[in-house]
Amino acid sequence: MASKKVESVKVAVRCRPMSEKEIVDGRACIVQVDAKRGELIVANPKPDTSEPPRQFTYDNTYGQDSAQEQIYCDTAYPIVQSVLEGYNGTIFAYGQTGTGKTFTMEGKEEPQENRGIIPRAFEQIFYGVDQHPQTQFLIRASFLEIYNEDVHDLLSKSSKNKLDIKESPDSGFYVKDLTTCVVKGIEDMKAVMDLGKGNRHVGETLMNRDSSRSHSIFTITIESSESDNTGINHYKVGKLNLVDLAGSERQSKTGSTGDRLKEATNINKSLLTLGNVISALVDGASTHIPYRDSKLTKLLQDSLGGNTKTVMIANIGPADWNYDETLSTLRYANRAK
Ligand code: ADP
Ligand code: MG
Repeated sequence: MASKKVESVKVAVRCRPMSEKEIVDGRACIVQVDAKRGELIVANPKPDTSEPPRQFTYDNTYGQDSAQEQIYCDTAYPIVQSVLEGYNGTIFAYGQTGTGKTFTMEGKEEPQENRGIIPRAFEQIFYGVDQHPQTQFLIRASFLEIYNEDVHDLLSKSSKNKLDIKESPDSGFYVKDLTTCVVKGIEDMKAVMDLGKGNRHVGETLMNRDSSRSHSIFTITIESSESDNTGINHYKVGKLNLVDLAGSERQSKTGSTGDRLKEATNINKSLLTLGNVISALVDGASTHIPYRDSKLTKLLQDSLGGNTKTVMIANIGPADWNYDETLSTLRYANRAK
């Protein structure tokens, strides 16, 4: 059984291009990617070091010129396909703020090739639906944010309300009173996404929340039913979680106090727990998977491990000033292999 579990978690690392500012500032590029081999080499930029460059290997690595489409095909496509077939799956974007998590998940609408995983997943889902005219589908979406270990519904105007996580004997953890929207096509799905992003923005300004400090989870549930030749009905349900995690940068050195410090501690706790859960799953031998240690892992319990597929896309920057954070992201990603 253990080997099956290992296969269900994949880890990809993506290095974004140098930003304009990094180019203007004359920053050195310290990251080399060998996408064919899934390797990545990071040089230590500190002048007083004789340390050799460090090499890492993952399921996939992507360099500065990588295409959104390629990343989609390698990482998201197989998961979305299995969700259509009635399995659960989760796609995470991990990394320091400014390294491309949102670019990877959402991308840009223009030009078309810059569309990220989320809009492409919408297309794959409704393409899959069109391919099966004999099957009846019910597709629903929800969108929430975990900020400071509180759950906020991004599809409800009163997003300042904190929702409770409950546990039911048959369906596990769930968010009480969370809005779910029935979606009939790509346009509906986009409207739901935009509504959530708008509410997230309102929360940012009105409630003084910083979205880089929250985890957002967009969940698509696909129910399907189909009668075979003998009249027997086959019912399936699959769930896809698209997760843009809070920035992984160490928060302590910014000298946070009070509320900000509490937020920082909570971010670290949930990212740490996520790392522990994934490495326990990958390990295969662990009998205790610490899902209960954070809200993020509670909510994703039925979509991590067991019969599910998970991909973690760890995002990094190429420039020397990010060296410490880059190494810490690569080590985190290494634990998940
Ligand atoms: P994060 O969500 O991790 O904070 P963003 O996705 O907002 O980071 O990315 C920071 C900036 O870098 C944005 O302006 C984004 O458009 C740009 N960027 C990130 N990754 C890429 C990429 N692979 N190609 C081009 N631009 C990118
Ligand atoms: Mg972001």
